[in-house]
Amino acid sequence: MLKKRINEKLNPNFDIEPEFPKKNMLIEVTNRCNHQCAFCANSKMTREKGSIDESFLRRILEEAHHEGVEEVGYYTTGEPFMAKNLDQYVRWAKEIGYKYVYVTTNGALANPERVKPVLDAGLDSIKFSINAGSRETYKMIHGRDDFEQVINNLRYISEYRVKNDLNFKIFASFIVTRFTEKEKRRLKLLISNLVDEIIYLNVTNQGGMMYEINETLSLGDGSSSIKNLPCSLLFNSINITYEGYLTACCVDFQNYLVVADLNKVSLKKAWYCDLFKQLRVMHLTSSVEKTLCYNCIYNKNESVEALNKNYSKKLSSDKFNKNDEIRQRVETYFSELKE
Ligand code: SF4
Ligand code: SF4
Repeated sequence: MLKKRINEKLNPNFDIEPEFPKKNMLIEVTNRCNHQCAFCANSKMTREKGSIDESFLRRILEEAHHEGVEEVGYYTTGEPFMAKNLDQYVRWAKEIGYKYVYVTTNGALANPERVKPVLDAGLDSIKFSINAGSRETYKMIHGRDDFEQVINNLRYISEYRVKNDLNFKIFASFIVTRFTEKEKRRLKLLISNLVDEIIYLNVTNQGGMMYEINETLSLGDGSSSIKNLPCSLLFNSINITYEGYLTACCVDFQNYLVVADLNKVSLKKAWYCDLFKQLRVMHLTSSVEKTLCYNCIYNKNESVEALNKNYSKKLSSDKFNKNDEIRQRVETYFSELKE
């Protein structure tokens, strides 16, 4: 189910002016997060933290649906349950007529009080991102001691579905690092009766923003660097930041790939704007140097420029390197395990 949905999105029509996407629209309701995952660039972005303007959200949902978009996911670089009106956003999308509305969450805030209204609003699927199989390892990877809370929340959702004879889907994903590979089975044993499917994804450099995982977290089998040009996201995926920008990438933590401001232009115009077309040409001709995509695809840590400097502040890769922080966490983890 989940794997099938992901695979369907991988082979679009690689045209400079591709068909307007119908199925793949992600909206960043907030870039705030309550966790600090070791492999994630959320904690090092220097973009201001914020939440989406609700009148903009309502407008863009209506506009996108009018253009034929049928599905919307509420997450990109932050934790959707940090947005206090998430239930309202789900309800709006269903009222407007979206066929499939979904979220990915770390699950720590998806307690009965918060999650029930979101499910009741008509959510079609919820995916928990659980990146370890034990409390200790979870704390090291997520930077928060929330493993038990997350499992309890997942159990509540599963029971709520049965009790109310609902048919939304429940998924889990597990980003695998060298420290958690051995815990894949452990998580599966713990939650397989609570979810419809679990997917395992080897840790990658997060759209070119987390080169340091190569030294500290990746599996060392080259799986972190297997990516190809052109990237399908530019051809079949609408990604909207909380500020109201259209970006090429769902993990554009620093707004390096913003192509247009949807507060000023329509979504359709933005999809076919010159900057987006230019980026697609760069992908189709394998000439992405100096863009974030270069670091992402080639697994490098070169200096990159924003496509439009008005929307992004440059991040110094030395200053914001998380290597020391990750090493410190791993050290603490092993010393606590010994005690
Ligand atoms: S992976 Fe998700 S939960 Fe973890 S820090 Fe990043 S945004 Fe937050
Ligand atoms: S950074 Fe570029 S190449 Fe990498 S996933 Fe995002 S859009 Fe695709």
